[in-house]
Amino acid sequence: MVQAIVGANWGDEGKGKVTDLLAEKSDIVVRFQGGANAGHTIINDYGRFSLHLLPSGAFHQNVVNVIGPGVALNVEALLKEVKNLTDAGVPQPRLMISDRCQVMLPYHVDFDRFEEERLGKQSFGSTKSGIAPFYSDKFAKVGIQVCQLYDPQMLRERLEIALVKKNVLLRELYGKEEVQLDQLMAYLQDIGEKIRPMVGDTTRFLHEADKAGKTILLEGQLGTLRDPDHGIYPYTTSSSPLAGFGCIGAGISPMSLKKIYAVTKAYSSAVGAGPFVSEIFGDAAKELRDRGGDKGEYGATTGRPRSVGWFDAVATRYGAMVQGATELVLTNLDVLGYLDEIPVCVAYETSQGERITDFPTTPTLMHCKPVLETLKGWKTDIRGITRYEDLPDACKEYVDYIERVTETPIHMVSNGPKRSDILYR
Ligand code: GDP
Repeated sequence: MVQAIVGANWGDEGKGKVTDLLAEKSDIVVRFQGGANAGHTIINDYGRFSLHLLPSGAFHQNVVNVIGPGVALNVEALLKEVKNLTDAGVPQPRLMISDRCQVMLPYHVDFDRFEEERLGKQSFGSTKSGIAPFYSDKFAKVGIQVCQLYDPQMLRERLEIALVKKNVLLRELYGKEEVQLDQLMAYLQDIGEKIRPMVGDTTRFLHEADKAGKTILLEGQLGTLRDPDHGIYPYTTSSSPLAGFGCIGAGISPMSLKKIYAVTKAYSSAVGAGPFVSEIFGDAAKELRDRGGDKGEYGATTGRPRSVGWFDAVATRYGAMVQGATELVLTNLDVLGYLDEIPVCVAYETSQGERITDFPTTPTLMHCKPVLETLKGWKTDIRGITRYEDLPDACKEYVDYIERVTETPIHMVSNGPKRSDILYR
């Protein structure tokens, strides 16, 4: 049985924690897209960890963690992450890397940085980890697959082709030093050797595991609104964070996907550029930001302060729809316990004064204002509560309300950052 955990919004919804929880009951956890550009925060008995590339099953010895072909594999970042875990006493994670996965090259990271610098104020809020240059090269067919690291002749030929253009850009557009072929070859062969024991045909492995009735968890990064097709283009990422793409990026039959958990926060947060209709500012924003998450709303990878706002029913209903969510998981509900009243964004008002409830395309979205409704707050700390029934009435009403406006069932509610802080409804 295959299930997916994905983000319903802009990312940082708390997927890591929920995945960690579900990973325990899974045989395999798969990363299917993205790279080391976003992070999951996981807090468990070993400590507090930010995972970027490692699948969240890394803490469980019963789980095989797979890096699927759709991932942007930064080998150094991955090995560093593994070391962070083992240094903290976590047993060596069981890890398998697809031989079809492509490798993040050092110049992808450089190009990302140079391009953001060149764009200045018009930049897209990249995390500068090379993701956009990586996927551009992949689709322009000048990327390097893991399997090619073990064929020196092919590797050299492919790099020669790629470097002609790269070096023109480096020299002429960015005024930087050119990349040396021999150096790059040596680097790639070295990282190839480092990961060799983990490399294999993950697609066959997953198909066989699925046939044998194993539980496979596809772990998405970021969220619906960062999807290049269905999100807030161009303020999107460069690979699809949708559950549907999970089957492709992992290498699994779409018919096998049985459950899709779309994670959403009880309020909104976003990191990076782009329109965010229900965003709040000033003191109210600072208070929500500082109270949010486990250590305030600051990016797990970049440390950047996240923008925060009220729960956005328009964006989340759309997010759940595009994901094909079979249920929503509502996280960070405890964070709202300080409010007398809780505003929720139920519709948008366009620049023409029209009230809309369907999530629009970016040009319209840029000028939308939130239409808010206010719900009663519960004014208590709900952390530590272990049964859903024991939540204050106003809190349960808030959950009922979100379920209704998003048109998606909610069975799991998270009332704190720890893995035990979860209520089943
Ligand atoms: P992800 O990328 O979707 O995994 O999200 P992140 O881990 O980047 O961000 C979620 C933040 O919320 C992290 O700081 C988590 O520790 C925290 N978190 C997750 N669930 C809860 C919750 O129910 N309550 C609180 N207070 N924090 C939570």
